[in-house]
Amino acid sequence: MLSLVIPSYNEELNICAVAKVITQLLDQHKITYEIIFVDDGSVDQTFKMIETLAKENPKIRGIKFSRNYGKEAAIIAGLKSSKGKCCAVMDGDLQHPPEHLITMYDLWKQGYVIVEGVKTSRGKESWIYSKFSKLYYKIINNFIDMDLSGASDYKLLDRKIVDILIKLPEKDTFFRGLSLYFGFPRTTVEFEVAERASGETKWTLFGLFRYAVNSLSSFTAFPLYLITMVGSFLLLIFFILGIQTLYNYLVRGAVEGFTTVILLLLLIGSTTLISMGIIGHYIAKIYEEVKGRPRYIVEKMLPNQDLSLEGEI
Ligand code: UDP
Ligand code: MG
Repeated sequence: MLSLVIPSYNEELNICAVAKVITQLLDQHKITYEIIFVDDGSVDQTFKMIETLAKENPKIRGIKFSRNYGKEAAIIAGLKSSKGKCCAVMDGDLQHPPEHLITMYDLWKQGYVIVEGVKTSRGKESWIYSKFSKLYYKIINNFIDMDLSGASDYKLLDRKIVDILIKLPEKDTFFRGLSLYFGFPRTTVEFEVAERASGETKWTLFGLFRYAVNSLSSFTAFPLYLITMVGSFLLLIFFILGIQTLYNYLVRGAVEGFTTVILLLLLIGSTTLISMGIIGHYIAKIYEEVKGRPRYIVEKMLPNQDLSLEGEI
């Protein structure tokens, strides 16, 4: 059986269309499936729609979060409740073309335990968004030594991988990169990002920035080493400038170098602040993990018999 996890946040306009397209497609190819819609605390009618769909089709299930916990949490919650031999994750706005599910499924049958959707085009997006993501992937490719350009959350994973993934203790997951991190025979399926069926993207610039910083720091402590490296380099410059200043003062008897002082002040001030910010970020992460709060709280599950209120750690 194929489990399909669909994180959905305020997707009332898309849910029905998504369910229809996918059920038709999978029925047509005679693939047994379950669809798990994870309502990530939508404030619109998303969960009502899921309820109706679940009543009509027993293969459709729903999970409702008590508030918006983010797409990553929704993916993990969906995967946790999935029962299929393989699980696919797909956006709830039809931007991930559903027909590729069949290709992914076939590749899984051939023995690939990770099948990843790779974006060949990025669809319609704003100039700032595309520049930002280019820069982000450049940084991430250099830092982490994993080629993530074109990576997406559109993936199909074998049960084996899902079981490892859902047992990870960390709360700040980065689904896109984690499956790469595992190794195992994996393959990719290229797809073009379609235009959003309806509604607006849920990303804000600040949200993207937070996502970028979080994903980077959940994979590498390199920024921390970078601080030390930059610090040592500055110290070296200090020595050279120090000797020069002393020489000027003692031999030439001149008081010079106001520019140098100001430049240095600026440089040191800014690097100190950045360094403190980076360290602060990692400490915040440790703090989040140490608090041990649940990553999400489930308010409702469909069908109802499953459980009523569950906090997942
Ligand atoms: N999403 C979610 N929780 C959020 C934000 C988004 O579950 O806090 C879902 C959203 O409903 C959609 C998918 O994640 O199914 C991708 O979101 P979106 O289309 O906004 O991102 P984009 O495609 O623009 O990168
Ligand atoms: Mg989208």
